[in-house]
Amino acid sequence: MTKQINLECTYCHTLTPFNQFQGACPQCGEVIVEARYEMDKIDVKQWLADLRNRPPNLWRYHEVLPIYNVDDIVSLGEGGTPLIKSRALAASLGLKNLYIKDERQGPTGSFKDRQATVAISALKEMGIQEVVVASTGNVAIAYAAYAARVGIKVWAFFPRLTPNDKMREAALYGAEVIKTTGNYDQTKVLAAQFARAKGVFLDKGIKSVAAIEAMKTMAYEIAEQLGREFENRQRWRAPDWFLQGVSGGMGPIGVGKGFRELYDFGLIDKMPAFGIIQSTGCAPMVEAFERGQRVATPIEEAKTIIATLATGDPGRAYEILYDYVQHNGGYFISATDEEAFNAIRVLARHDGISVEPATGVTFAGLFKLVRQGIIKPDDVVVVNCSGHTLPVEKTILGEQWQKLVDLSDTQSMPALPPEEKLVAAIDTVDGQNKQIVVIEDNEAAARLMSRILEARDDCEVHLAHNGKAGINLINRIRPDLVITDLMMPDVDGFQVIEYIRSSDVLRHIPIVVVTAKELTVKEREMLKDQVDMLLQKGSFLDDEFVDNLIARLN
Ligand SMILES: *Cc1c(COP(=O)(O)O)cnc(C)c1O
Ligand SMILES: [Zn+2]
Repeated sequence: MTKQINLECTYCHTLTPFNQFQGACPQCGEVIVEARYEMDKIDVKQWLADLRNRPPNLWRYHEVLPIYNVDDIVSLGEGGTPLIKSRALAASLGLKNLYIKDERQGPTGSFKDRQATVAISALKEMGIQEVVVASTGNVAIAYAAYAARVGIKVWAFFPRLTPNDKMREAALYGAEVIKTTGNYDQTKVLAAQFARAKGVFLDKGIKSVAAIEAMKTMAYEIAEQLGREFENRQRWRAPDWFLQGVSGGMGPIGVGKGFRELYDFGLIDKMPAFGIIQSTGCAPMVEAFERGQRVATPIEEAKTIIATLATGDPGRAYEILYDYVQHNGGYFISATDEEAFNAIRVLARHDGISVEPATGVTFAGLFKLVRQGIIKPDDVVVVNCSGHTLPVEKTILGEQWQKLVDLSDTQSMPALPPEEKLVAAIDTVDGQNKQIVVIEDNEAAARLMSRILEARDDCEVHLAHNGKAGINLINRIRPDLVITDLMMPDVDGFQVIEYIRSSDVLRHIPIVVVTAKELTVKEREMLKDQVDMLLQKGSFLDDEFVDNLIARLN
């Protein structure tokens, strides 16, 4: 018995058999269509038992994917990516359950691998040998890799903004690379004209089906993984939030469909809220959401260097997401390129995960949603984390990411033995950064603060665990800033402040007090004259806190 797959128009709900689909709804012309399977024929209990014996990849859910014959699957082992629990970043945000869906671990490093395996498998099943695709980078790279395995030729059209490294990667897999001078929306039009003129299949004809069905497997995996984490495998579980950096919007549309199917199966008992994050320089969805509108006004010229997120005209995808958020909760918010690059550093230095700028935008959005109290400390939050950092390392790290030691320079430190010379040379290089002394007796709090500060590329942190050691450090380093706790054994924070303020050579150093102590009126008065900033412990979030501090330094 062959599988029945129908496509339902998201606008007028007309059904078309998948194998007769012409790229748009035959009734109304809508291109966003959703696959429908004979769900009632699936015995969920039996299916769960079968899943236990299947490998952890995307095709383990093949019953609910648009393929008639599993022999047609073109796979590179995609899907089944880990759901990593964040420790340090979660702690600094005050979140208890922050999870990172690590899509970097896909074959070409982004969640577009899911889309490519589904699309190229479907093309193979349809007997198509050439395809035209318009992409800001990741889709074309993934298509090119999968197409290479079955000899399908890919014509990849890229907009002006796409980094050369991304285009080169597509070319490496054998794609024909065409760079245009236009934006992404113009590039899509050009690709369509080319496909028509040359009589080649246009990816758009399968795109929405492949993308939605592929992205929904992220929902299946997340629910299965959270079930393991929280429910002892007895049930699956939806997170409270799913966050993604959004351009065309197919990711969250697919993920939403996935959770809906799981809800209908009775495997989860709620739908997650969506955090939809866009780059401020190209945020048509966020702008419409802020105006309370269900239809977005297209952005003509994207003012972001993050090409992956530069869809100026989201069309009906925004309406679908807007409706989702109305029904299930969520928020649309934007973050600037600079905030994104900062978030990349923060994530890398806290959790050891390096991401591409589009995902940096997502994390910058997460910081805002937490700070604004929209995401709560107990919420279970999953962030779709994708992409490698290679094409933009320089922008993220700035110039001072490397210490250069000149070993031929024996003049400047002639008396020192070689190892100490090395240490001294490295110390000299450190001199270019802002020196910060942190005095804090709570080891965990000290480490957290130093990580937050060192996530900036321009700060060097020195830790002291009591007032006496702190004073020694201050004398030795003459820092640009001192951050101190108040309550410490022996020499406390008040004495440290007193010491600094009564010294001619140290007096000018700004002091920030971070304390959990309920201050008396007298103490508060005293501190007001002596210190530059007073922070209550636990009341700050990383980048806001750091921005405030850095303002003291300049
Ligand atoms: C494609 C992509 C996006 C945007 O996804 P949509 O769901 O199509 O808006 C975001 N981040 C990364 C890394 C991507 O590859
Ligand atoms: Zn229709």
